[in-house]
Parts: sequence; C-alpha cells; structure tokens
Amino acid sequence: MIPTGEATAMLPTKTTPPIKVFGTPAIRETFDDLCLQQAVNSRLAPGVTDLVLNPDAHCGYGAPVGCVMVSPTHIYPGPVGVDIKCSMSLLQLDLPAEAITDRKVRRELISQICRRTPTGAGKGQRHAEKSRHVNRTLGRQLVVEGASEDVCRALGIPTSWTYRCEDAFHLGHDETGSALETRLERLLTRRDMSNFNDKMKQLGSYGGGNHFGECEVVHVAENERARKVAGAFGLEDGKVAFLSHCGSRGFGHNLASGQFRQLQGKFEQWGIPFPAGDRQLVYAPLGSDEANDYLDDMALGANFATVNHLLINALVLEAFQEVFPGTKGNLVYFISHNIARKEIMDDRPVWVHRKGATRAIPGGHHALAGTPFAKTGHPILLPGNPRDGSVVMVANEGAEASCYSVNHGAGRVLGRRHAKRVLDQSAVDSEFDDEDILSNCRRYPIDEAPAAYKNFNEVLRSVESAGLASEVARLKARFVIKD
Ligand code: 5GP
Ligand code: MN
Ligand code: MN
Repeated sequence: MIPTGEATAMLPTKTTPPIKVFGTPAIRETFDDLCLQQAVNSRLAPGVTDLVLNPDAHCGYGAPVGCVMVSPTHIYPGPVGVDIKCSMSLLQLDLPAEAITDRKVRRELISQICRRTPTGAGKGQRHAEKSRHVNRTLGRQLVVEGASEDVCRALGIPTSWTYRCEDAFHLGHDETGSALETRLERLLTRRDMSNFNDKMKQLGSYGGGNHFGECEVVHVAENERARKVAGAFGLEDGKVAFLSHCGSRGFGHNLASGQFRQLQGKFEQWGIPFPAGDRQLVYAPLGSDEANDYLDDMALGANFATVNHLLINALVLEAFQEVFPGTKGNLVYFISHNIARKEIMDDRPVWVHRKGATRAIPGGHHALAGTPFAKTGHPILLPGNPRDGSVVMVANEGAEASCYSVNHGAGRVLGRRHAKRVLDQSAVDSEFDDEDILSNCRRYPIDEAPAAYKNFNEVLRSVESAGLASEVARLKARFVIKD
C-alpha cells in the first residue's frame, strides 16, 4: 500500500498492487484488519485497476465503506451497495441564524418538516400538498427519467435545481432511456416488485438508520479563496441551511438485493470463484447481459434517489415557508456517495465505484464543462456529526491522486451494537443540550452518537494535508431529524 497525505512512508508488498491510502497516522490506526483485508481483496479482484482508501474507511459489504474502486472492464454491485445513490444535498435559505435562536421556533420547524418528510424504515410520504401525490404512472416516469422537466413540474420541484445536481438523471446501459423502460417492464413482472406502487409512495422521505435531515448555520472559512468559492456555490455566511442524507429507499434496496441474489446464483451455477472467496465481491464483465441488467437497475434506483432528494428539499423549503412566510431557498448541490459512474481517466472510459466516497473534481476539469461549477470545481458535501459540524469543500488539482474522490463523512469507528454497549445515553443527550442542538428524537439514537464516528477534524486534516480538497464552509447543527 502507498499511504499518502501527511505520512508518505512507502509500505511495499510483493504481492499486492498499490492501494492509495489517505490518512494521518491517527486515522490509519482506525483501519481494522477486516477493512484492510477488504481493500486488498477489492484491489486484487478481476479488472480492478485502482483502489483508493479514504480516511473515513471502515469495513463494508465486500469492499470497505470509504473506498474508490476503478475498472475499465467490470462492474461491481457490492461497491455500490444496497442503498443505490445514497447522497447528500444542501439547501441554502435566506434566513439569518438569529431567526432560529428560539427553541420554540426550532421545535415548530421540526414538526413542520416531519409532517412532510417522515423518517423511519418503510415510512412513506405525507406531503402537505395532495398535488404531490406519486401515482403509478408518475412513479414509472420518474424512475426512467430522473429529474426531468416534466417530473419536476409534476412534483413542484424548481427545475433550476436540476443544474445543481452531480447527475440529474441516469440513462440505461446503452445510454438510452428506452433501455430503462424495457428493463422496468421486465422488473414489474417480478414478485418482489409487486409492491412498486408502495415503494413509489416513499418518495420524499428519509428512511431509517443513518439517514437524516439537519438544520445548519453556515460559517464560511476565513480566507479569500473560500469566500470567492462560497459565493459561486451560493452559500451565505451566517445564514440558515438544511443538509439532507438519504438514498433510494425501498425501491433501490429491492433492486440491489435482487441483483446480489441473481449474480451470486449465477456464479454458483457456473462454478465461477468469488474474488477472495467473498460472495459480496460478485461482479459482471461489461458488455454481458448481467452487466447491462445491473447498470439498468442501478440507473433506475439512482433516478429514484435523485427525485427523492429534490422532493425532500422542496418539502423542507415549504416547511420553512410555513413558519417564515416568504423565505427563499436554493439548492447548493446534490451529490452521491454510493454510485458507479462512467468517467474518463487517462483518456479512457472507466467505471468509478464510489463506495462511501464523494466525487471531487477541481475547476477547469473537462468533466465540469457546461456546469455552473466549471471554473471553481463543484461543491463537496461532507457530513461529520452534529456536535463537530459538517463541511462544504472544493477539490484541488491534487485530487487526481485519489481518482478525483474524497471521503463521504467521518466514518464509523464503533459498530452499532458496540456503540450501544459502551456509550452512555444521558451523556450523549446532555452533549446535545450543551451544544443547544434539538432533535425530533426524545432520546438521541445511541448508535448514531457523535462518538460512534471517527474524529471528523482528523479526517478532514487527512484530506487537506494530502492536497485533495479545501474547506469552503463549516455547517453548525441547530437541530437534527433522525429515525
Ligand atoms: P453513511 O451512513 O452514508 O456511511 O455515512 C455518512 C456519514 O454521515 C457518516 O460517516 C457520519 O460522519 C455522518 N453522519 C451520520 N449521522 C449524522 C448526523 O446526524 N449529522 C451529521 N452532520 N452527520 C452525520
Ligand atoms: Mn449514505
Ligand atoms: Mn444510505
């Protein structure tokens, strides 16, 4: 492995091709054996040409969460994960921070938001406006088209927000939308898709576990570049913003688990060995029917996730307007951390699997031509934890070293069960009180406590000291909505 960043000692091994590791010495202590084994297994898997381990890495499904896996020839469903296109989005509001100092006002905002965008596994929409109801026809349209103009209009999403998406829509394996229509027809005959209508009704909701909505105050970093970039991103110092984390809900989960089942079954039927014996690293060679089906399913799930985030943002804005009539809100960005994208690297197309990793393309790069961020680089949205905050970053030229990627958060350091065993509920709750951060939960979920995650500042130091990206703004939490 080649650790980069602050410590650049080379650790050559004879058998493993290089893995790039971004982490300060303290961060590298957090990579346990299983995480490192998964990194090695993923690097050695067929067709893989690059593997990057980010500072938030921890063990995942086949590949570590917090890694980037590149292949010109193969697609890997595991390193996309069960929550296809799990993403972050940030809505900037034109409200000064002082408007939400009063706890009663924040309580009212929590209730207005929860009324519209419920949390919880399996929970569906309760949109304030009936006009936003998602029937079967609209459901079919949105998973095929993503955030098209028609879909946005039908759901009351400002169409200007689609320019603020890493990808506003996804096409099928042959880069047409009709491939997705054909694939959807076939999927709808499958037993596990008989609840398609119910899955569509989840549009505009967060789901459970680690997903959240969080009200923030924006603090732009005190340097000239940060101020300029923040302006281009539409970030407003000292004002309120809203950060959301969720993915493709039950629909994406169904698609991903269907793919794992089918592909693993075929490997067994055909007697193909799993990479390092790990069935979670099942793959399909590009051009095969199996790869085409996977790419189509991933695109359908990703389209759902995209519209889901945009609708959530529209509903959150509506909730703010209910409490503060006339409030304006603009989407800063919507960016995924669980997706495989076709990108050009070293003049050839490759599939970049970002598994708990965020794309980080600097200004001037060809991939951003024609977007609002061609000159500056796009916003990178990184949740940390409610206590230490979250950040907006921008990529530097140096990001080429990490396949144009950075981390996706702080990354877990305690497993859920472990966290429940060793953390103290009242200590967690009083930490939120001390910081004056409210929550919709009566008791904050202990397995989601800040202490269950790595030291976010050390994670960020790993990214900045390696020259990958720079902080543009810090987001300070004022209330959190979680399951
Ligand atoms: P994921 O679940 O997608 O792997 O993790 C995303 C990241 O979100 C975690 O690594 C963690 O740093 C961050 N995170 C989890 N819960 C919260 C929260 O309630 N607020 C904030 N700001 N970040 C969180
Ligand atoms: Mn996520
Ligand atoms: Mn997710």
